[in-house]
Amino acid sequence: MGQTRTVDTLVVGAGFSGLGAAIRLIQEGFDDLVVLERGSDVGGTWRDNTYPGAACDVPSHLYSYSFALNPGWSRAFSPQGEIYDYIRSVAHESGVLDKIRFGVEVTAVEFDAERERWTVETDADTYDARVVVLGVGALCEPKLPEIDGIDEFSGQVFHTARWDHRTVLAGKRVAVIGTGASAIQVVPSIAGQVGHLDVYQRTAPWILPRIDRTYSETERAAYRKIPGLQRAVRALQYASRELQVVGLTRSRAALTPIRLIGRAHLAMQVRDRRLREAVTPTFEIGCKRILLSNTWYPTLSRDNVDLVTSPIERVTADGIVTADGVDHPADVLVVATGFHVTDSPFFERVRDAAGRTLADKWATDGMEAYKGTTVSGYPNLFVLVGPATGLGHSSMIYMIESQLNYLASAMETMRERGLQTVDVREAVQGAYNEALRADTSETVWTSGCASWYLDAKGNAPAVWPDFTFAYRGQTREFDLSAYRRTAAADAVATVTTDDPDTPEVDVVPAAAAAEKSGQVNPQ
Ligand code: NAP
Repeated sequence: MGQTRTVDTLVVGAGFSGLGAAIRLIQEGFDDLVVLERGSDVGGTWRDNTYPGAACDVPSHLYSYSFALNPGWSRAFSPQGEIYDYIRSVAHESGVLDKIRFGVEVTAVEFDAERERWTVETDADTYDARVVVLGVGALCEPKLPEIDGIDEFSGQVFHTARWDHRTVLAGKRVAVIGTGASAIQVVPSIAGQVGHLDVYQRTAPWILPRIDRTYSETERAAYRKIPGLQRAVRALQYASRELQVVGLTRSRAALTPIRLIGRAHLAMQVRDRRLREAVTPTFEIGCKRILLSNTWYPTLSRDNVDLVTSPIERVTADGIVTADGVDHPADVLVVATGFHVTDSPFFERVRDAAGRTLADKWATDGMEAYKGTTVSGYPNLFVLVGPATGLGHSSMIYMIESQLNYLASAMETMRERGLQTVDVREAVQGAYNEALRADTSETVWTSGCASWYLDAKGNAPAVWPDFTFAYRGQTREFDLSAYRRTAAADAVATVTTDDPDTPEVDVVPAAAAAEKSGQVNPQ
């Protein structure tokens, strides 16, 4: 049995979001903080995705914290190893490593209404925390395909995000299931060493050229020495990515140039008519994430690679049988089938005061939060990379830093006002999400394809349907009037109502209310 430890703020996860939260909160003076990380290192998705060819589709200068630019990136799009090294060095230099407990898996996060604190169970100690910040990531729980017989396969089976580096691929017959962002990087990287490669495609993706190159030593020196140069390049990259938002969310006509580039890229790289037909996308560009590769189509044309488009019927001990009755032998099965995003198993571990899990709430009401960060009924819980914060076109780190502004401002507001809890009003959250749903219903993401942006009801609760600077604006300051709040037991200040027109009445846990009557003003 572990001990119970008391801490003011508990952060779950030490990837880009959790680590960023820890750095920011400590900077703001909230240093009674612990980060719990199930892995043995920081880095999150960039620690876990070690598959051959793993790299980022967002330009290197843009894909970094704004407070820790890296003039040393080796190329325009960074490979996984370099991003992993970057995040490790930021963790080291920011001095937060001693706040992180590695190898600790959070098993339950439950709000205690009487004490107005969170109880966080782990496979080691229990934590008693006032504030919980979830930095568990959106693309972290591998989604394994539910295919008949997959458990009976006699060779190795692994997901791209859990790559088994002990498995030797040289000369083997390898099957890769999926043609998303992960698959299109893996396949060209392993095709040259395997004996034979079958690529199972359910939906042909849109692919644009990858304009990548190495940075010369002179360029890197310039970024180091010329003040503002890297920020200027970053700003240009940011602006050019933001232009895509017009096409993705407002006007399909604005997607025409990239659609034409995609078609031309395909036509130039695939000469074989049948292959060309098979890889021609049948949905609107941008509906799924747009992929970047110069090597995908040429790899599919290799003699030792087959693109299989007949649906998978079942997996047998030695291969895959497709709906056309063909038996495709395989020694190794790589599943590149994505992640649980709108149905992450972590949501089953988070419970409100009545014991209702976030998973249950979101399965019933739809996955929603207020400003992607707070959820009504879950006081003092801040979800990073939460609902409606995902992006396909630009850097998630920008969205994370927006959320960190909001988190820091919330913590500061609570400190200044002597608040114990803040809990977003249900009506405010509802209205916010209704507006978001109206926005997303016009976007390209709901134009008829399947993707991780969508939930089971066909809404797109995972993506931000506007310019990212609009989100930055919304999250700049904590808007206390959107929240019900209770006073801290030792509060000197009295909580005052700054939104007298709001018809809702604060619901204060009975015990706390009795104890604190006189400190909390009903609204
Ligand atoms: P993904 O985009 O969700 O793609 C999953 C692929 O598996 C799709 O092709 C899907 O087909 C297929 N699939 C799923 N279940 C299947 C089944 N039962 N049978 C056959 N095929 C099946 O997953 P991902 O490629 O891992 O990428 C996820 C996200 O991670 C990306 O959108 C991106 O945000 C991020 N990522 C980024 C990079 C980068 O920056 N370069 C690299 C990797 C990942 P359908 O299309 O028909 O559903």
